[in-house]
Amino acid sequence: PEDIAHHRLVTERVHAAGGRIAMQILHAGRYAYSPDCVSASAVKSPISPFPPKELDEAGIEAQIADIATAAARAREAGYDGVEVMGSEGYFLNQFLVRHVNRREDRWGGSYENRMRLPVEVVKRVREAVGADFIVIYRISLIDLVPEGSTWDEVVRLAKAIEAAGASMLNPGIGWREARVPTIATSVPRAAFTWLTARLRPEVSIPVITSNRINSPGVAEEILARGDADMVSLARPFLADPDFVAKAAAGRADEIAPCIGCNQACLDHTFAGKISSCLVNPRAGHETELTLAPAATPKRIAVVGAGPAGLSAAITAAGRGHAVTLFDRAAEIGGQLCMARRVPGKEEFHGLTDWFATMLARTGVTLRLNTEATVETLAGFDEVIIATGVTPRSPGIPGEERAASYIDILTGRVTAGPRVAIIGAGGIGFDVAEFLTVTDSPTLHPEDWMREWGVGDPARTPGGLAAPQPEPPARQVTLLQRKPEKPGRKLGKTTGWIHRAALQAKGVRMLGGVNYEAITAEGLEVSFGPERKEPTLIAADTVVLCAGQLSERSLAEQLIAAGITPQVIGGADVAGELDAKRAIDQGTRLGAAL
Ligand code: NAP
Ligand code: SF4
Repeated sequence: PEDIAHHRLVTERVHAAGGRIAMQILHAGRYAYSPDCVSASAVKSPISPFPPKELDEAGIEAQIADIATAAARAREAGYDGVEVMGSEGYFLNQFLVRHVNRREDRWGGSYENRMRLPVEVVKRVREAVGADFIVIYRISLIDLVPEGSTWDEVVRLAKAIEAAGASMLNPGIGWREARVPTIATSVPRAAFTWLTARLRPEVSIPVITSNRINSPGVAEEILARGDADMVSLARPFLADPDFVAKAAAGRADEIAPCIGCNQACLDHTFAGKISSCLVNPRAGHETELTLAPAATPKRIAVVGAGPAGLSAAITAAGRGHAVTLFDRAAEIGGQLCMARRVPGKEEFHGLTDWFATMLARTGVTLRLNTEATVETLAGFDEVIIATGVTPRSPGIPGEERAASYIDILTGRVTAGPRVAIIGAGGIGFDVAEFLTVTDSPTLHPEDWMREWGVGDPARTPGGLAAPQPEPPARQVTLLQRKPEKPGRKLGKTTGWIHRAALQAKGVRMLGGVNYEAITAEGLEVSFGPERKEPTLIAADTVVLCAGQLSERSLAEQLIAAGITPQVIGGADVAGELDAKRAIDQGTRLGAAL
């Protein structure tokens, strides 16, 4: 009850702005990060260190009563509804499947018994909140775990939940422990709406759909096809809080797109940091990172149209500065242009398109194919250097025979059938994906489902089928010097996807190597500090993905000429640079000038 006043702050603001808001009630069951977690039976989840305690009859009643109380308090706090979380493998979902629910009392055994808990919860929530309140039930349509629910069970549950008093159904896709990606950038847009389309005729309440809907166009197609009554988005509102207003005003091209990277939202959550957004660093920092009109408009030059320079340019210009953006390339984007060529990273197209739109809308003067010099920059009030990075030369004998990742991703060099990749960081993984995949499954949902083993829950319980990856386009070996598993530093919620994708393509990953020489036969390596086991990795092409160095030559020339530039992005610090840090730094500088 002491939380009600805090929640009121939110609900009152939402109502004042003409919005409606429902509160989600999530009981994590065995996913709760606590030795006191509870579930149907004492079956530990593969993603949790804590085995749950099996609830007794009184314990089950206590959970139901608490959920109903939470719903009643949500109403008191001014919410228009609640959403009861019954999917993603959380508490209620755990009762539905036999591999977690081994009970033999009235809460386990037959499906009727296993679904008793979610149905009872919805009934008691409805009683607690009254008839004129929205109760959404989040239902798992495809569990994507072994021994998951069958389609018949899903439909049976949906009907029972409707009868128990739910106002709407919102689908959940995959349990948290599922080894199939469900929201990451490589998941095709709207990949799972076919399941909502199938459920919709079975019930008479509205059915919502979700997962990888990141633009009004995608949402509109789903609704026009009749796949769902409503769409549900979450991360896109972090990327652009004005998503709905811009869509309504016909300005969809100005919506900053969620690229499904998870880097600043979910990865932050799991690291105990404030959830924000890679493309919108203001998310979660709105009161501290503000964009007031500039007190004194200045003439600002930005050199480098990568993510750091683009962000600085549109932020400064949006505040009223006169900004000129220089890049020697023929197009904007910098490293984003490389990223978008990687299969599964097509969303980066949308991000560069958005930057292009915003450059035009904020009135930035764009000078492409232009090498900025000390002379060109002399007349500006401020100079921002965002000249990015150059690939590091690791100094391996025979290195001149190797290709750089830029050669490969831009198509300047076509790799042969056997490839060795030096460096297993983010770019090494991307290049391995680029070289083993012929046609990006992200653009072909049926291929993607075959690749990852997404089946039909009407045929196979939980919709889990045997993955059938396309054979790799090349035989690739990915190497690093650190004696650890390659890919350990990739994103917390997405690294496993990249590792699994490369494993499916038979990519060999080797850690703890020393690079001895690059020869006509391939890459010679040895292992460990004693340089043991000299081995030839036979390869037609060796690709360097050995990290980056800052490109600061223009910054240094300016300083020598008495001009002090602001240096951002990879030109500032190359190590562990990514688009998140570049956009954040560019936006903050653009806001401060
Ligand atoms: P990185 O992640 O720092 O990886 C560099 C790789 O090069 C490491 O595997 C490193 O491993 C190796 N290396 C470093 N110095 C070397 C040397 N002197 N000789 C040989 N190997 C050397 O850098 P990156 O792959 O270039 O990526 C750049 C940035 O973009 C990173 O911050 C990365 O996270 C980001 N990025 C992110 C994604 C994503 O999906 N989120 C994708 C692409 C890039 P050893 O030192 O063990 O050999
Ligand atoms: Fe989307 Fe990435 Fe932003 Fe998360 S951090 S909201 S996934 S763009």
